[in-house]
Amino acid sequence: MVTSAQALKKYGEPGLLSTQSKNMVMWDVPAALEIGVIPKRLYCNKDMVGPLTQAFTSLVDTGYVKELKTWDGCFNIRKKRGGATSSLHSWGIAVDVNAAWNGFGKHPTMSPEMVKCFTDAGFDWGGTWKKPDGMHFQLSKLP
Ligand SMILES: [Zn+2]
Repeated sequence: MVTSAQALKKYGEPGLLSTQSKNMVMWDVPAALEIGVIPKRLYCNKDMVGPLTQAFTSLVDTGYVKELKTWDGCFNIRKKRGGATSSLHSWGIAVDVNAAWNGFGKHPTMSPEMVKCFTDAGFDWGGTWKKPDGMHFQLSKLP
């Protein structure tokens, strides 16, 4: 699992303009993937474009895109919930979806098939953590 220390080393201090200009892109999501709540444009880490393209493609191809009810964000400079270290959202390498039904510390409600669309594409799912974060997917490794 990617730690905030690894992300800090690779991408730099969250919040610095240089960190953002080196790593972040405004990704114009391909029109074929603009289904349901998948965003049309997404401000995210450049290393997310490949894995997210794969995850969105799987969601669309399998029809599980229907289970994607809300898009709850990617880039957000903040500490981990209940922690002192930075959330991987601070570097734009994590996304939250279906937050209202998958709250932090609650039992996640996503189907395994939908989760698989993300995990096959290179994401770790917070739903399996000791304190579950079912809305949360983050890059499983840094390129
Ligand atoms: Zn999250």
